[in-house]
Amino acid sequence: MSPVVQVPAQVSATPGALLHHVRTGRAKSRAELVALTGASRNTISNRVDQLIAANLLAEGGRGWSTGGRPPTLLQFNAEAGCVLAVDLGVTSVDVAVTDLSARVLATAGHPIDISAGPVAVLAEAERLAREVLTEAGLRDEDVRSVGVGVPGPVEFSTGRPSHPPIMPGWHDHPIPDAFGRWAAPVFVDNDVNVMALGEMGVGGSVQDVLVVKVGTGVGCGIIVEGRVYRGAQGSAGDIGHIHVPAADGRSVLCRCGNTNCLEALASGASLLRDALAAGLPVTTTRDVVELAAHGDGAALELVRDAGRTIGTVLASLVNFFNPHRIVVTGGVARAGLPLLSGIRESVYARAMPLAARTLDISVSDAPDLSGRVGAALMAIEGYLDEDSVREAITS
Ligand SMILES: [Zn+2]
Repeated sequence: MSPVVQVPAQVSATPGALLHHVRTGRAKSRAELVALTGASRNTISNRVDQLIAANLLAEGGRGWSTGGRPPTLLQFNAEAGCVLAVDLGVTSVDVAVTDLSARVLATAGHPIDISAGPVAVLAEAERLAREVLTEAGLRDEDVRSVGVGVPGPVEFSTGRPSHPPIMPGWHDHPIPDAFGRWAAPVFVDNDVNVMALGEMGVGGSVQDVLVVKVGTGVGCGIIVEGRVYRGAQGSAGDIGHIHVPAADGRSVLCRCGNTNCLEALASGASLLRDALAAGLPVTTTRDVVELAAHGDGAALELVRDAGRTIGTVLASLVNFFNPHRIVVTGGVARAGLPLLSGIRESVYARAMPLAARTLDISVSDAPDLSGRVGAALMAIEGYLDEDSVREAITS
């Protein structure tokens, strides 16, 4: 066995990396880039000049001086183009156009049925994309990249869904082809990974985080040191089909064919089923969540129970993964506190003290928006990767 050598972390100084440091707020001037990367002043200056010439960075304002001339501040030019962000759900399609800092410029969406199939659903997504571009006063040639989140497993390298259980007819469909109108790369990933990116935000994070989506189904985006972890085949985080013993001893069939999967007992779909069985006046999961938000006792108890069940699985994940944070998002997360209190109750009762001691469990600030912001961030990261930035500064 070779000895473990601790090498000090090298902070990259390639043009793409320099742009990333400024974009994410890690450095605000040439001097800070020199200090951060350890590269020479000349190297940094030349590369920054190239990024400015490519219209990706701009100079503006003066920073605080630490003696001598105050440094000129660098800013990322977030208006150097736009990206299209498509958030496909089981029952909805939402599209946004954002600038290169994922700021939403225009958005549109409406209910759909994902089982209508890829041709019809993607044609509608493409139509909405054209609509938001027009609304934002942008042209087709302003689009730098497209990000798409879908509610099922995706082969990330090709953008094709792989045997998605709740997307009949979508297996192996080339989703990127639907956006061929724009001469831009298209990135496709499952909605949970996309939402996880959205929760990390533009600045990213170096933390270990679990982003749990409680929508029609239940899934988990795994962030390891700030990056999405996909696993060997891309299905990491599929926690919806972990077996859970039901508190009341009942056996509930899951759509996967097994019984007592997490999402058979605690998901948007199961909430609706149980609310209807209890005689509540609801037709959608959203109705149940709204009843709970308005303090309806029966709805509150259903949501809290779902939280407790989800919490039993999360407690195991906390023991196994020891995250800094858990963020709960998705349609059911709009219920807020009752869901959260159920989850916390189970996690703190069952997780080991060392792992749970500083663990932060919260609900998303904007569960409705994180899918679109995440799709935009995926598109932006894809567009501003090392090779594309090199290409932009040499062309
Ligand atoms: Zn299942």
